[in-house]
Amino acid sequence: MGFELEYTLNGRRVSQRQFFDGMQQEVCDVAVKAATERIESVRCRQHGQRARATLKNQRGDRLEFSITGCCDQLIEAAQRAV
Ligand SMILES: [Zn+2]
Repeated sequence: MGFELEYTLNGRRVSQRQFFDGMQQEVCDVAVKAATERIESVRCRQHGQRARATLKNQRGDRLEFSITGCCDQLIEAAQRAV
């Protein structure tokens, strides 16, 4: 007795390895998106501008963002939001 598993990623048949790699990538993408949204939802009280986040580095489950904004206060507030 045996059974066969079929792995499909975005409608494409893939190997088991590709499937789990793809799933990890998708989890990462979701984490990056969530963190970016949190950073960019911070608005400066003085200048009314929003912080901008750029993904700098991704190592395992550690994400490194570079945050830019109109002033130090905004950048600090954005860092606290993550
Ligand atoms: Zn500002």
